[in-house]
Amino acid sequence: MTLRLFNTLTGQLDPLEPADGKALRMYACGPTVYDYGHIGNFRTFLQIDVLRRFLRLIGTPVRHVMNITDVDDKIIRNSAEAGIPISEYTARYVEAFFEDFEALRIERPEQIARATEHIPQMVALVEKLAAAGAAYKAEDGSWYFRLAAFPEYGKLSKKDLSGMEDGARVDVDEYEKDSARDFALWKAAKPGETSWETAIGRGRPGWHIECSAMAMEYLGESFDLHCGGEDLMFPHHENEIAQSETATHKPFARHWMHVRFLLVDGRKMAKSEGNFYTVRGLLLKGYKASAIRLALISVPYHRQFNFTFDSLADATNAIERLRTFRERLAAGTFRAGENPAIQEAAKKAQAEYRDALADDLNTAEARAPIFELIRAANTAIDQGQFFAADRDAILPVLKDFDAVFDVIEDRDAEPTRRALAWAEKGGRMGDVSPELLAAQSLTDEAIDALVAERAAAKRSRNFDRADQIRNELAEKGVVIEDSKDGVRWKRK
Ligand code: AMP
Ligand code: ZN
Repeated sequence: MTLRLFNTLTGQLDPLEPADGKALRMYACGPTVYDYGHIGNFRTFLQIDVLRRFLRLIGTPVRHVMNITDVDDKIIRNSAEAGIPISEYTARYVEAFFEDFEALRIERPEQIARATEHIPQMVALVEKLAAAGAAYKAEDGSWYFRLAAFPEYGKLSKKDLSGMEDGARVDVDEYEKDSARDFALWKAAKPGETSWETAIGRGRPGWHIECSAMAMEYLGESFDLHCGGEDLMFPHHENEIAQSETATHKPFARHWMHVRFLLVDGRKMAKSEGNFYTVRGLLLKGYKASAIRLALISVPYHRQFNFTFDSLADATNAIERLRTFRERLAAGTFRAGENPAIQEAAKKAQAEYRDALADDLNTAEARAPIFELIRAANTAIDQGQFFAADRDAILPVLKDFDAVFDVIEDRDAEPTRRALAWAEKGGRMGDVSPELLAAQSLTDEAIDALVAERAAAKRSRNFDRADQIRNELAEKGVVIEDSKDGVRWKRK
């Protein structure tokens, strides 16, 4: 099976396969660690996680490199305001980023590359461009890429750049999205700013050169896939291509994947818009990490996703259905034999699931057959038409589903616990929802004791007390389930 993935560069669905026949070499633009990431950022990382997990499912190993931009205009400004070195300023946000990464069960890339640890590679690339006549030094000591040196500029974003002004320059990391200018490769040191003493002068790297230098360091001059959010297509990725291909005369990445934006009320979710939610913020509101994951991946990457709290509630319900069903299969005893209709349904669901993901990672279409299968199986179980071989046919389908979606196994307690510890430490307990506070006030041992007391009350026919305990637990988000195998409880 081959994944066909939309390629921004060719404008069509192209098969994604390792050029070396071994592992797929891919680079993803990572976070700028000047603040906590928002769920828009994490939508992008989650969709890239879907990609790498699906590749593994179909037998393609990946070598995935992600950078961390730990020096840029905002970081320099904020750390100066806080009066601390940039390394100290960014450390907190790097830690928070990986905490959120883990909470959402995003797999760690094989290689994490920090910009500040690759300055020599960036300097070498600027020198190479200078030697080729494609980079020049301005009066203040900063270095710029000469756009005129790369006639193919614009081939990724397909922008009409005919009005491009020769020699006009830009040196800030964020600028008007529609104008093409000679861009900064290296910025001369300004008084009081973090800088490095190098062969091209004292200064710090521009944002674009970071990704080119680190991608080539770990993946070689040409590699299979480059990913990022849709906002990076221009100018960031266009600039990466210009620098890299001018320096090497080889194609940089063959395939480009851009994840469409997460919106709120039709507008892009962004720090600057003030309309953002963080992962920890949602955990403190009482949403489970698995529900955030499922909501953010269920709309395919090639479509924008308008985020709503309803989408989180839907994801919560869907996960409940998946977990209850898996539990039903695991706990039930089924007679030997098989139901041909269920056997057929399991095969069909698995094929449709894989086909949908192979078709440009269509997560929405991939989910649907799994839930259909659950419906059919539940009906068969209710009717006594479900057998041991049916369970054995369905379990691998659920396993395939979870290899990519990863929400059935319940690992939700830990991220919530960590978010609460973070809120407590930072004096943010006011952000915690009352329901979550109430639920957390009960330890597992206290719940066990109440459940035992309820059982004793029932035995002595004190049903009022038994009901009272059940209600008290329910108010704190603990559900009791009586079954023929005994009493079980779970946190909602
Ligand atoms: P940053 O930390 O701003 O460099 O962004 C990290 C990643 O998140 C980049 O790939 C961005 O393209 C992506 N990103 C930023 N905002 C959004 C959004 N609203 N929806 C989806 N991805 C986003
Ligand atoms: Zn980048």
